[in-house]
Amino acid sequence: MSMFDPVRVFQCPNCNETIDASALQCRFCSAPIDPDMAEAASAVMAKVNQACSDASFIKTTAWAILVAFAFRFVPIVSGLGSMAFLILLVAVPAMALRWWTKFARIVSSEADFRRARRTVAAIGIPVSILLVMVLAVLFLGLSAPFRNR
Ligand SMILES: [Zn+2]
Repeated sequence: MSMFDPVRVFQCPNCNETIDASALQCRFCSAPIDPDMAEAASAVMAKVNQACSDASFIKTTAWAILVAFAFRFVPIVSGLGSMAFLILLVAVPAMALRWWTKFARIVSSEADFRRARRTVAAIGIPVSILLVMVLAVLFLGLSAPFRNR
C-alpha cells in the first residue's frame, strides 16, 4: 500500500479488507458501503499513512544528528558537522512538535500508527532535552569566555 496512491481506500467495517472508498459494496464480503462513512474512514486512513511516513522521516533525521556529531571529529568537515548538528538538533524537536499537534489526536487502533506515535515521543523528548543542554552549554560558554578549562 503506497501513501502516494491517489485512490482513496479504507478498511471494510465488516471484513477489515482494504477497499476502494468509492465502491458501493465490499468486493470481498459484499457488505453494502455507506459513502459518507467510507469518505470519512478513508480520510482518517490517509492521515494515518501521512503520520507514519512523517514519523519515519523524523527518525531518519534523528539518525542524521548522530552522523553530524561524528563529523565534528573529522578534520576539514568538522565545522560543517558542528553546524549541521545544531541545525538538526533544533529541527528534530520542531518536527516532533509539529507531528504531535497534527497527528497525536487521531483515533486509530492501527499498530503502525501507535508505533509511529511511540517513535516520535521516544525521539522528540530526549532530543529536546539534549537541545536545552547544548544551548545551556553554549550560553555558559559565551558568557564566560575567559574561564579556565
Ligand atoms: Zn468487506
